[in-house]
Amino acid sequence: MNSDRIVGIDLGTTNSLVAFMEGETPVVIPGADGLNLVPSVVALDENDKIVVGNAARKYLIETPERAVYSIKRLMGRGIDDVQDELKLFHFHLADDLHPGEVLRIKLGGKTFTPPEISAFILRQLKRNAERYFGAPVSQAVITVPAYFNDAQRQATKDAGRIAGLDVLRLVNEPTAASLAYGLHHKKNGVVAVYDFGGGTFDVSILKLNDGIFEVIATNGDTHLGGDDIDNLLIAIALNDIRGSFTADFTRNSEVVATIRKAVIETKITLSSQDAARLDVELPEGRRYQREITRQQFEQLIQPIVQRTAGPCRLALKDAEKKPDQIDEVVLVGGSTRIPMVQSLVQELFQRPPHTGQNPDEVVALGAAVQAKILSGGSEATRDMLLLDVTPLSLGIEVAGGVTDKIILRNSTIPASATQQYTTQIDGQSNVAIHVLQGERELAQDCRSLARFDLRGVPPMPAGLPRIEVKFLIDANGILHVSAREQRSGKQAEIDVQPSYGLTDEQVESMILDSFDNAEEDFRQRQLIEARSEAQTILAALEKGKGSPAWAKLGNSEKKQIAKYEKMLNQVRNEDDYLAIRKVIGELNQASTHLAELMMDTAVSAALEGKTMDEIGKDQPGNLPETGHALAKAEFS
Ligand code: ADP
Ligand code: MG
Repeated sequence: MNSDRIVGIDLGTTNSLVAFMEGETPVVIPGADGLNLVPSVVALDENDKIVVGNAARKYLIETPERAVYSIKRLMGRGIDDVQDELKLFHFHLADDLHPGEVLRIKLGGKTFTPPEISAFILRQLKRNAERYFGAPVSQAVITVPAYFNDAQRQATKDAGRIAGLDVLRLVNEPTAASLAYGLHHKKNGVVAVYDFGGGTFDVSILKLNDGIFEVIATNGDTHLGGDDIDNLLIAIALNDIRGSFTADFTRNSEVVATIRKAVIETKITLSSQDAARLDVELPEGRRYQREITRQQFEQLIQPIVQRTAGPCRLALKDAEKKPDQIDEVVLVGGSTRIPMVQSLVQELFQRPPHTGQNPDEVVALGAAVQAKILSGGSEATRDMLLLDVTPLSLGIEVAGGVTDKIILRNSTIPASATQQYTTQIDGQSNVAIHVLQGERELAQDCRSLARFDLRGVPPMPAGLPRIEVKFLIDANGILHVSAREQRSGKQAEIDVQPSYGLTDEQVESMILDSFDNAEEDFRQRQLIEARSEAQTILAALEKGKGSPAWAKLGNSEKKQIAKYEKMLNQVRNEDDYLAIRKVIGELNQASTHLAELMMDTAVSAALEGKTMDEIGKDQPGNLPETGHALAKAEFS
């Protein structure tokens, strides 16, 4: 057996799996118990030994203070941002936690961080694979939800490292699912991935560009899943039981656990049959039985299933796609085995979803496909592909000389990301795109990679053009930057090699610099942004005063505006960005009415094709020859 085999791992909230490529086919590796799914449960047994998976489940009921599940919910998060989870789940946090400290979970008398607990699960999967191959396994691709942030991703990598796995790449779960269906071979298209698991619901819209997936929208509900269906059935059973028996079994947690097991079996049967019997053995030789038809079941779960529709529509909206622009639909998560869920998905995206793979295995299978891609090919391409992260962030310069990062440091490549910008000067027809590399907040402190102009943008009031800047780093590490004004279709682009002429030491010192200067950089950036915002609003106000809208305002409105205008002119020369922001807020509020009146005229004039002069623009002749940097857009 090949010992440097790379495995693919789905580290799930409810269940985890490990898979690998057998020739051209991805397969899941079963555990010693013959089962493919390893429940994501970790417990400390009577002898203080760690147990994982099915063997750990009984501790959740018998000694809950020695067991933990759903640890994925706490990965990479701080005590302040997990308060919701703590209300809903019985996590036993260590007693001596301080704000800002890494979370620790109690298992019996010991405490562990979330990455350490996830590492126990990973270690079990690693062992399963090693048992299967009869050889050591040390490299893995692990999947994470598309919405995971940097800290959550880092925590997942840490878990891998603690488990003795070299994590070659983190892959987004929806991307992995698409890989499992071989959709990357299609090169281009739009894919919707609907993932309805045990405790979470996610929907992602992916764009496929030359075989590279880009997540263009995600939505979902982190507290919606098969568990909600189970709880509904349990509530009904408990209610029946309370009504039929004099002894109250319903407070007994072991009874509840038995009921849970039974309702899950019933639910699963109902995914393939028209009726199922719910059958629970109760204490004292009693027994609760009830026949449930698929129709009754569907009626019951309809509201739960329907809750997934809203996020799907929102994701489509964010991706600016109509259902008929979706080329492929992929189902992920055990709960998508429910026929009613499949019909809803078909209805929402107006096409039948792929169902060829097991929905609870498809993410792990895709991780195995990614692992194979990484290990395949010639020596040269392997090295290339394994140089898989951008060591420094890449972005552009925006108004006031501030850096706006588009692809973050440590992003896996190939990577692509798109940001929206607009102009900051009325009638601006050229915009300068200054491509930057580095972690610092100010453009002058970053490495300048390239400059180019986007020319010929039709004159419009500042803030109206929609300029999309797209960064794509291909598998060879080449950065392709393109800028496109959406309304006119004007476009410009450039290719650069970000790693060119950079030694490892330089990369490191650039990162260290950003740490050393973080606080001052942050303040500077805030100040520049606040001043530039002040500038913008004062200029807009000046224009407002010269416009017909001004006359429509009441005297008290004008007075109020004048007061804050004066204040803003004062504070903007000082160094206190918070004070500037406060007055901007006040002036904004005071001039909302004026802005509305003005916006109406500007938009309708622009739509009618009037020139800037006609709308009362100031000094078109003074526009800079080359472009002016972009401003961050706030389109809704
Ligand atoms: P996660 O991604 O959250 O770890 P999974 O994708 O493994 O979770 O999905 C687990 C959920 O799927 C559980 O709620 C389980 O009861 C449910 N499930 C598994 N098989 C079926 C089935 N045949 N019918 C309905 N629900 C199922
Ligand atoms: Mg999952």
